[in-house]
Amino acid sequence: MKGLDPSRPLSLYIHVPFCRSKCDYCAFYSVPSSSYDEDAINRYMRIILSEIGTLNREWNAPYCTIFIGGGNPGMLGYGRISEILAKAEENGMPEEVSIEINPEDVTDDIYTLRPLLTRVSVGIQSMNERTLRRLGRNASVSDNKRALSILSRSPFRWNADIITAVPGESIEECISDIRTVASYGPGHISFYCLSFEEGTPLIARECPIGEEEEARFLEEGWKELRALGYEHYEISNFARNGEHCLHNEVYWDLGQYVGFGPGAEGSIGYSKAVSMRDAEPLSRFLSDPELSCTPLSETETEEEYLLVALRTSRGIYKESYRERFGKDFDAVYGSLIETMDETTYLDTPSSFSLTEKGFLTLDWVILHLSMGI
Ligand code: SF4
Repeated sequence: MKGLDPSRPLSLYIHVPFCRSKCDYCAFYSVPSSSYDEDAINRYMRIILSEIGTLNREWNAPYCTIFIGGGNPGMLGYGRISEILAKAEENGMPEEVSIEINPEDVTDDIYTLRPLLTRVSVGIQSMNERTLRRLGRNASVSDNKRALSILSRSPFRWNADIITAVPGESIEECISDIRTVASYGPGHISFYCLSFEEGTPLIARECPIGEEEEARFLEEGWKELRALGYEHYEISNFARNGEHCLHNEVYWDLGQYVGFGPGAEGSIGYSKAVSMRDAEPLSRFLSDPELSCTPLSETETEEEYLLVALRTSRGIYKESYRERFGKDFDAVYGSLIETMDETTYLDTPSSFSLTEKGFLTLDWVILHLSMGI
């Protein structure tokens, strides 16, 4: 594959586009079961297995991490998931192998994915039936409880996603969701605000609760998660006992990863990354799965790097920045940082990072640093 840097680790992302039904807020690339059949799943499998096989021969070493995301990979069934994992692990076992799955598809059979799998991420979103219906989720609170209970007894590391700032939700309900989910003992929780995306049924029907209110939900939620022993290591991610998601850390470091599947992205190269394939309709992917790679300029790569690295609490290591872009971080950004509110960042001789207050203004910080706004 053009652009791969053999001197750096390589991770693998596999996008599964299939869902049972479409959630009302979802703008991710996914198709409901009314839009595909068994034949489409079988064709998808043949393409993915063949793409992984080709990359295996070229890379000829274990991948650093593997992540199967979606969509809802649970729609493939555990047998097909095992097939993909076995193929992707032909060159050896990665440090972490994760799968995303919806609660209604978590059954005791998930244990059969051991030892091919090490980590599971389940989209709980809420423990309140009214909120789940408002989001148009397929799963009910009892599906969520059953999935949480199975994962709490499983040998995997695992994550639960929680959405907050849903219209009609109170802060008390948000805190109660966090406590209930945490009581099942996940080592990792992703906690983020509901986003209103163009073209979704949600935006046609409801209004966001507003930035100030969203900030209040986030701050209260963050406080609760910290009190429960979770480290806030990325704007939307919390881990206990160091159970960071290694695959996501590759993204936040703008590391090297190849993406397969119709909505997958990738990033290969170093000072000039190459982004892979724009999302394309499932039918086009199934008939012509050719990868398209778009080279990014050094400026675009740097903007992307700022965007992902400043999402993390560790921020940007100035030495890594120099190594990557051949420039001194303080010389480039020092005067812009001086104009920022001092309570929003931590600037030391070795690193620059945002505080929780800074996370609340992340979009502005990125514009400020990359365009001087
Ligand atoms: S399960 Fe996930 S990918 Fe599928 S429709 Fe819902 S939010 Fe979108």
